[in-house]
Amino acid sequence: MVSLRVMSNDSLIPFTGNPLDRASEKRTDAAWIDAKRRDPSSLILPMWRLQPFLLSGEKNAPAELGLFRPGLCESMAAPDAAWVFLGLEGERALFALDVSAASDPENSGPLAGFGKFAEARGAAMALPFKDVAIMGQAKAMIDWHNRHGFCANCGTPTRLCDGGWRRICDECKAEHFPRTDPVVIMLATHDGACLVGRNKRFPGNFYSALAGFMEPGETIEEAVRRELMEEVNVKVGKVHYHATQPWPFPSSLMIGCLAEAENRDFKPDGEEISDARWLDRATAKKLIDGEKMSDISVPPAVAIAHHLIKAFAEGGN
Ligand SMILES: [Zn+2]
Repeated sequence: MVSLRVMSNDSLIPFTGNPLDRASEKRTDAAWIDAKRRDPSSLILPMWRLQPFLLSGEKNAPAELGLFRPGLCESMAAPDAAWVFLGLEGERALFALDVSAASDPENSGPLAGFGKFAEARGAAMALPFKDVAIMGQAKAMIDWHNRHGFCANCGTPTRLCDGGWRRICDECKAEHFPRTDPVVIMLATHDGACLVGRNKRFPGNFYSALAGFMEPGETIEEAVRRELMEEVNVKVGKVHYHATQPWPFPSSLMIGCLAEAENRDFKPDGEEISDARWLDRATAKKLIDGEKMSDISVPPAVAIAHHLIKAFAEGGN
């Protein structure tokens, strides 16, 4: 059992900062990929039902991602299970392998007794920063394979190639590539306050940045303006890009923005958003610093919404 060297930085956004060299030029070299899949120095990240494996350690020890030498996890995988060449750490290759065919992998089989498979969002809050990015890459890719087993063009089963970075249809020759779906996520701002909303699906008094999928033919700025108008009837002018976050649930790229509102009028749509409120900087800062308030809570640091509120609280517009 080996884990990557990791660094932790709480101010960075989880799922970013992937340390691997994706070595995309190697993906089409089937002989090289085959050799690396058997190379004893390579590491395999097993994903079971889209959950990473966390090694059991000492009590209160930091969580550690389960990465294993070739030859251990393969017996748990179905013959046609999805796998992906994630990239290189120096000369060492990392792969992800879907072991969802195993019925009870924590209690029987080669990993029994070494740890547990954990829901990915919770794991992202526990794992070292760089492991979160690797795990997110693996989850998004395995999920994509599992949902794209048939050609969207002709319905024929497709097959995995290029180290897991392409699927091909042998019937109509269509090629299929991994998807990333852009989502805008934003705070409207006005004169020292930012607007957060409560989605109907959110529990309790949980408020967050508003968000929505971008549509074809739209710029980021246009999507931000449209979503704020649709969800809370807020008109914004200038849109400022802040940062992006790969969000593998299942395959989004969260595009974080701050947007200047004309005034503080708002009206939640009542369908998706049940309530919204303006937060002044001091309140935003307290919430981001973890202060408990009876009537509002905001997202934890795993979500880019947390970092948008933090950026605003620390002086962004
Ligand atoms: Zn086809």
